[in-house]
Amino acid sequence: MNLTCFQDAILNNSSLKEESLYLSRLQAIMDNVLVIGGENFLATLWLENIRYAKVVATEITYRAQLLEFTEIHQPKVLIIDASYPIILGWYNELKQFSQFPYIYCLAIAQENSDSPREIVSQLSREAEALENGADVYLRLKRSSVATEAQRRLLEAQIKVGLRQVEKYRELLQTNDYLSSMAFADPLTQISNRRALEWELPRQIENARNQQIPLSLLILDVDYFKSVNDNHGHLVGDRVLQLLTTRLKHHLRVQDTIFRYGGEEFVVLLKQADAPTAYAIAERLRQVICDQAFQIDRNLSLLVTISIGVSTLTATDDPEGFDLLKRADDNLIRAKSTGRNQAIGQ
Ligand code: GH3
Ligand code: MG
Ligand code: MG
Repeated sequence: MNLTCFQDAILNNSSLKEESLYLSRLQAIMDNVLVIGGENFLATLWLENIRYAKVVATEITYRAQLLEFTEIHQPKVLIIDASYPIILGWYNELKQFSQFPYIYCLAIAQENSDSPREIVSQLSREAEALENGADVYLRLKRSSVATEAQRRLLEAQIKVGLRQVEKYRELLQTNDYLSSMAFADPLTQISNRRALEWELPRQIENARNQQIPLSLLILDVDYFKSVNDNHGHLVGDRVLQLLTTRLKHHLRVQDTIFRYGGEEFVVLLKQADAPTAYAIAERLRQVICDQAFQIDRNLSLLVTISIGVSTLTATDDPEGFDLLKRADDNLIRAKSTGRNQAIGQ
C-alpha cells in the first residue's frame, strides 16, 4: 500500500477521523497556550493534552524570565506553577505591560496531601494568587484515578481563558475604533474640537515640563458664507477639504491641526515661540491666498484666511482657555482690520 492509500484508509475509519479532528482542534487551542514550569510541575499537568502547547521547561528563578518568555511566545493563556513565591504580584504586573493586551493567567498547584495544614496553606495560596491578578487557580492531584477528569477540567479552563481573551481583545479593538471616530472630523478627516480639548492640556503640561515654547493659531476662512451662498453647500464642503489638505502640507511634522468649528481651525505649534508662530501663520495665510482652489473643470475659487496667534505664558491656565482666548482676540482684530492677515500678540 502506498502512502496516499494508507492515509485514505485512515481517514475512512470514522473513529480515527474523529480522533484526528479532535487533535487538530486541540492543536489550534494549545497553540495559544504557554506553559512555564519545572519538570515536576509539568509531570503533574499530565502532558497528554499539554504537549501541543508552547512549553518552557524551566524553573523560574527571577521575574524577568517570566516576562521574557511571555514576550517571545505571546500567548493568550499562560499556565504557571502557583507554588513559586516569586510569581505573587506578578500577574498584575504582566497585565499592565502594554504589549500584552490581556493574558489569561492560570495558576496550577499540586495537591499532595489532605492534611488540614496543607488545606489551609493551599487555600491561602489560592486567595493570594487571585488577589494578585491570577484569573483562575486550579488544584491538581498527582493521581492516576483522576487523570482523565483533570485533563478535561484543564482543557475546559483553557477554553474559558481563550474565550475571555478573545472577547477582551475584540472589545479593545472596538474601543480604539470608537475613540478614533469620536475624535475625527468626518468631512476633513482631521482631528475635531473634542480631540483639541483632550490634547491641549497635555501639550501645555508637556511644554512646561520640558520648558519648551508652545503656540497656537486660530484660522477662520474669510467670507465663507458667500462661498455657500454663491456656489452651494457642496462646493463649500469641497473648499474646506481642499483647504485642510493644503494647510496640512504646509505644517511642520510636530504641528497638529484640528477642525475647531464650521470654517475655523486650530493649529497647535509645538516648540514654536511667538516669532516662529507668527512666521508659520504668515506662511499658511500666503499658501491659501496665493493659489485658487480647483473645485472642478469649470470652477476655481480664491479664498483667504485670517489668523489669530498666541504663545503660552507662565501665568496661562493649564487647560488652555487663556491661550485660546488670546488667539481668538487676535483673530477678531484680524477680521475687523481688513481680513487676510495674521495677528500675533
Ligand atoms: P468672516 O469673514 O467674518 O468669517 O465671514 P464668514 O462668512 O466666513 O463667517 P460666518 O460666520 O458669517 O459664516 C460662516 C459660514 O460657514 C456659515 C456656515 O453655513 C458655513 N459653514 C460652517 N460649517 C460648514 C460646513 O461644514 N460646510 C459648509 N459648506 N459650510 C459650512
Ligand atoms: Mg469665516
Ligand atoms: Mg467663523
